[in-house]
Amino acid sequence: MTVQEVLDEMRNRPGTGEVITVIDPVTEEPITEFSDGGAEAVDEAVARARASFESGGWQSMPGRERAKIMWRIADLIDRHTGDLAELDSLNTGMPLAQAQTILPTCAEFFRYYAGWCTKLDGTAYDVQMTGGISGAYASLHAYTRKEPYGVVGLIFPWNGPVFNACAKIAPALAAGCSMVVKPAEETPLSALVLDKIIAEAGVPDGVVNLVTGYGHTAGAALAAHPGVDKIAFTGSTEVGKQIVQASAGNLKKVMLELGGKSPVLIYEDADLGAAIPMAAMGIFVHSGQGCVCGSRIFVQRSIYEQVVAGITRVANSLKLGGPKEDGSQIGPLISARQLTRVMGFIEEGKRDGVEVVTGGYRLDRRGYFVHPTVLTNVDRGMRLYQQEIFGPVVTVLPFDDDDQAVAMANDTSYGLAATVWTTNLGRAHRLAKRLQAGTVTLNCQLVFDHAVPFGGYKQSGWGHEFGREGIEAYLQTKSVWAQL
Ligand code: NAD
Repeated sequence: MTVQEVLDEMRNRPGTGEVITVIDPVTEEPITEFSDGGAEAVDEAVARARASFESGGWQSMPGRERAKIMWRIADLIDRHTGDLAELDSLNTGMPLAQAQTILPTCAEFFRYYAGWCTKLDGTAYDVQMTGGISGAYASLHAYTRKEPYGVVGLIFPWNGPVFNACAKIAPALAAGCSMVVKPAEETPLSALVLDKIIAEAGVPDGVVNLVTGYGHTAGAALAAHPGVDKIAFTGSTEVGKQIVQASAGNLKKVMLELGGKSPVLIYEDADLGAAIPMAAMGIFVHSGQGCVCGSRIFVQRSIYEQVVAGITRVANSLKLGGPKEDGSQIGPLISARQLTRVMGFIEEGKRDGVEVVTGGYRLDRRGYFVHPTVLTNVDRGMRLYQQEIFGPVVTVLPFDDDDQAVAMANDTSYGLAATVWTTNLGRAHRLAKRLQAGTVTLNCQLVFDHAVPFGGYKQSGWGHEFGREGIEAYLQTKSVWAQL
């Protein structure tokens, strides 16, 4: 499908609700529009998913056959990398090179989880207990089966449209679930291509059902739907809490990948040649719109000024621009709403007396661009210090020793990621144990592998994605007992 075909097809998608305009965040111009599918589209999609699940065509297909289809999906993603990358960069404003770099990772989700299709084994138990109602000397055998949850609802945000979709669809397919997929209303374009790829690869009708619409309409209807067995959600902590409430009706299971306010600790013995640029890009990449972005940097006092200066240098050197602009390294914020939100935090901080070392302003051009912003003199009571901004804004504060560094790092309701930069290996691992985060990176940032579990501590989530945990999220365990 060409980009133009996707834009046209978007306009023709069925929907009875409000017309949603998709905006190019670089030009602030409409790209296309579509009608909100709302609760009606969700009802239809859940019914299709349920029928496909009950028919057993996908869940009962031998794992090796499911795996072959998943490999075909991966190959088709590779074949359509150009279109998908173009659509994601058009839709989010991220540099084309960045979108192209992400695409092979997306295809790999299907290859990685294809491997699991043949390994969804239970366990056999040598039962030691005898007696009970079955008889004092009964010989019992027990084993577990891993079974798909059934119909799952997949809801995810705009910050990496193809990546976020594949991270959920691949393990759900491998587990044998049927699903309703709801991308963010800001970035529905690449999901349309993915949907076609999945059908072309041979996934039976009704297994994957795309619904497009707002969160408060289509998303909310999916989260509350009595025909859905589990919701896998990636997004803000605030909406995560709404999902939990909406799920209570049928006590559907919930997996949540939520926001973060991730600390980065830089010690005086760190390799600053690596630490400074990585810590800077760890927040400014994608204009800070990454869940693991290190938005709170803590620096040992002896090197504090040096690190602030270094991060500021990187901030000032980055070229902001749209995907088609020469040499652009950082794109815009996703929307006018996000721009207002990010600037609101900054303006409030200025009023409260933070020092703006660099940035703190919207670029004087079209598009939702905010200059990478470095803030010091920040108080822990400030909203911008406590809440996730999801923009290119970092606070940098000094610390004196391990205890103070850990106390400051853990002083947040979030627990998604944390980083330590030090050449003292013993300290690095001691801190890895003390930091309250689902992922701790030592002398590296923004690292990822399909096999390594990822999930949040505290209010950053429930459950894990990726790796074995990632497929188990779509499987439930049945215990079977037999008297021999
Ligand atoms: P959001 O929570 O506003 O929206 C995410 C998705 O939820 C969208 O598809 C939206 O339409 C839908 N939604 C909104 N309201 C809903 C409702 N009431 N019921 C059901 N669905 C609803 O998040 P956002 O602002 O689009 O994305 C940014 C957030 O996502 C940040 O907080 C970021 O940290 C988080 N995030 C987390 C991870 C992770 O893996 N932990 C990854 C990426 C982004």
